[in-house]
Amino acid sequence: MIKAERGTKDVFDEQMLKFEKIERAGREVFTSANVQKISTPIFEVTELFARGVGDSTDIVNKEMYTFKIHEGNSLTLRPENTAGVVRAYIEHGFSRISPPQKFWYFGPMFRYERPQAGRQRQFHQMGVEVFGSDSPYTDIEVITLAINILKKLGLNDLEVEINSLGCAKCRDNYKTAIKAVLAPYLDKLCPDCNMRYEKNPLRILDCKCEECQRIFALDNVKEVIFSDFICDECKEQFDIICNELSALGVKYNVNKLLVRGLDYYNRLVFEVKSNNLGSQNAVIGGGRYDGLVGQLGGEATPAVGWALGVERLASLIPTIEAEKLDYFVVSKYTTEAFKTVCMLRESGKSADFDPKSRKFNKQLEKASKVAKYAVIIGEDEIAQGFYTVKNLETGEQVQKKEL
Ligand SMILES: [Zn+2]
Ligand SMILES: [Zn+2]
Repeated sequence: MIKAERGTKDVFDEQMLKFEKIERAGREVFTSANVQKISTPIFEVTELFARGVGDSTDIVNKEMYTFKIHEGNSLTLRPENTAGVVRAYIEHGFSRISPPQKFWYFGPMFRYERPQAGRQRQFHQMGVEVFGSDSPYTDIEVITLAINILKKLGLNDLEVEINSLGCAKCRDNYKTAIKAVLAPYLDKLCPDCNMRYEKNPLRILDCKCEECQRIFALDNVKEVIFSDFICDECKEQFDIICNELSALGVKYNVNKLLVRGLDYYNRLVFEVKSNNLGSQNAVIGGGRYDGLVGQLGGEATPAVGWALGVERLASLIPTIEAEKLDYFVVSKYTTEAFKTVCMLRESGKSADFDPKSRKFNKQLEKASKVAKYAVIIGEDEIAQGFYTVKNLETGEQVQKKEL
């Protein structure tokens, strides 16, 4: 028997209902905010991700599904969707249209990770990317979209973790300071952090290694990590975001260690956490990436976005029961049953029947599982031209001339 590949899962039944509910919540919230849906290919040239996600990230270093086709181009299954949407934004000249341009997406992503609880090699993300505005009100807008979607899905106990990574100017000073204070401890930091030290020292703060954490806790290191390094302009923007969150009654928490796993972020980075089901879970993460469009060959364009893990979110929302059909037609007269089903479907009702006309009891049993009403067509019904309609919840039965 051929089975689904390790780290991949078929989506059906309740899980599919949850996926659809999540996408529907997204569609409603995004549409109400003038965000258009975009679908980009699931594979792109490898260079897009190497340049767009960042070659100091775990994603690019260890987790990409890369393959060569005969013409020789190296292709990669998308490990995330920001790089693809940025590529599309540049390719189709969206920068010529009055900004901001807002896009959302929903689809599968691929990372070659060791499969474990909550981690799959093919997983799904829904996300939003907004181009062409450096206003902090755009930052707060995208955070609000995230919160509205989660609320629509019944997650109410939400908390936003937020940080500013600064702009190109002030961030460089911070990087220099971090590198200087960590230099004496390089041999104690893990191999990943040693690699990040050259390529993207801020990512070191993201390290979960015990030994690395111990070094971050040293007084002199802590002092640098928690220093107020951001410039006046960055500070002003960050304050607006925080004030607006308070005004909206959103619980938030400034977390200086929040840098997110990707290389391209600047200024705003954030995560939305839910306290549903007892434990705290980050369900949405994102931030500003003002340099990425330029870095991938477009005109310099400020941008901000987020993504959510659909599988993780699905595990947090309440159980959903499949909606029942309006009618199930029970009859040994297949032609008559089929005709009735077609008539019901055409009039906008949902209906099904048994194409093999099994025994009455078998058909009724199926009807009780999937439908609200059974339409029974027997000898008498055909002879006298009526339907027997049975309410499958109460058992009540009536005769009707028309459905
Ligand atoms: Zn700055
Ligand atoms: Zn480390």
